[in-house]
Amino acid sequence: MKDFDDLGLAKSLLESITKEGYSKPTPIQEKAIPVMLAGRDLFGIAQTGTGKTAAFVLPILNQIAEEPARPQPKHCRAIVIAPTRELAAQILESVRTYGRELRHSAALVVGGNKHGPQIRTLSRGVDVVVATPGRLLDHLNAGVISLSSTTTVVLDEADQMLDMGFVPDIKRILSKLPKDHQTVLFSATMPKPIKALANEFLVNPAEISVAAAATPIEKISQEVLLVEKSLKRRVLVTLFKDRDFDRSIVFTRTKRGADQVQGHLVKAGLSAAAIHGDKSQGQRDRALKDFKTNKVSIMVATDIAARGIDIDDCSHVVNFDLPNVPESYVHRIGRTARAGRSGIAFTLCDPSEYELLDEIEQLIKKSIKKQKVKKKFAVDENSADEFEFVPLTEEEDRDRWHPGGAKKAPTRSKRKPSNHRKGGAPKAKVQARGPGSKGADGAKRRVRKPKPAGAGRGSAGRANTKGRHD
Ligand code: AMP
Repeated sequence: MKDFDDLGLAKSLLESITKEGYSKPTPIQEKAIPVMLAGRDLFGIAQTGTGKTAAFVLPILNQIAEEPARPQPKHCRAIVIAPTRELAAQILESVRTYGRELRHSAALVVGGNKHGPQIRTLSRGVDVVVATPGRLLDHLNAGVISLSSTTTVVLDEADQMLDMGFVPDIKRILSKLPKDHQTVLFSATMPKPIKALANEFLVNPAEISVAAAATPIEKISQEVLLVEKSLKRRVLVTLFKDRDFDRSIVFTRTKRGADQVQGHLVKAGLSAAAIHGDKSQGQRDRALKDFKTNKVSIMVATDIAARGIDIDDCSHVVNFDLPNVPESYVHRIGRTARAGRSGIAFTLCDPSEYELLDEIEQLIKKSIKKQKVKKKFAVDENSADEFEFVPLTEEEDRDRWHPGGAKKAPTRSKRKPSNHRKGGAPKAKVQARGPGSKGADGAKRRVRKPKPAGAGRGSAGRANTKGRHD
């Protein structure tokens, strides 16, 4: 394993790396930094939590260290494009952190903030612009900034940008770059449209993939609590009151759900903030700041709002609802167990979500430990512990698909695989045990279970809700 000293980075950057307390480069850093320093295009498959931000920020800053020329007015040397404002803000923070021993300028160009200050900053010329696609395109179209002398462009979380419908904007932005530039694309998964984007815009790229999810998945203690939908909020309170937890993230499927859950937690005396797409930028920034500075200990978030946000030392992730797309489960629980730490992930699953749970288990090729939630008869007045959790036996786990004991032959669901899985990348990310292998509980994996009668949404319903995440 290499040291940072071996990667060819400038002294000023090595100093800030040491100040950050990093002793060794992560695998993505070890692989991506030399490629980027050599000026090659790069296609990286890596998730948040792998250290990929430093993997692209350090080479950008290195270029500035080696050629410390001031950028011309209305020009920038490098741009990083990210799907959400929060992720963009976080990347800018990394630019400032890793570049603190280096004279450089950096700007955040995102929606939700006023145009005026951004226009003034861009007009002066900036070394590194970190942007969300829509606002950057606005400024490009208005002639506020030109990319004609930009040497490096990074597309971060490209699959998320695809999900959010940003690909046409990205193509417009990329078409404004000069012929001779470096393009770097990072994506957690590799659906076909991302491959197509890479084929169109990357020239002879180095392809680097790190098995990101494999490490978190192994380090995360995962548990499913089988619970009636109507009891979920109360069970959530019990979970938090009953355990030692630091900062935790609770995922809900909808924005309204996030607000309701946050309200319930606050009423129960817990400190919680909510973050989702309907909140103003100010509210989102405040919630994130309060969470990062430990003013609130629980963040309730939708998938899109939380994607890419790096929160250190997150002890628990709770899936209040199961995600519609199984890959999101892997992303969600990856919020904990960052940078080699371990973490705990709870999933509250009601009967209408059994099929979603099954899909997750198939994706991660592992049976997740399950517990039934039971109401306690005698509640200790001094305890918030209103419920008890009873482990599910293997037999019960198998039978949960056939309430009442009616044994039906398993049938294959007709649901199409999600867009993400069509690309096949997640298979490489999770620890595969091979088809038909045994799960963690020793039970042989079934191919597909039929949905119990009246068990909520079917595939069509889920497909319809996909766009409502945030
Ligand atoms: P990222 O995947 O870029 O969101 O980074 C995830 C976390 O890993 C961040 O909190 C970084 O500060 C941390 N990190 C990045 N590189 C290293 C490293 N070489 N050693 C230890 N931690 C790191």
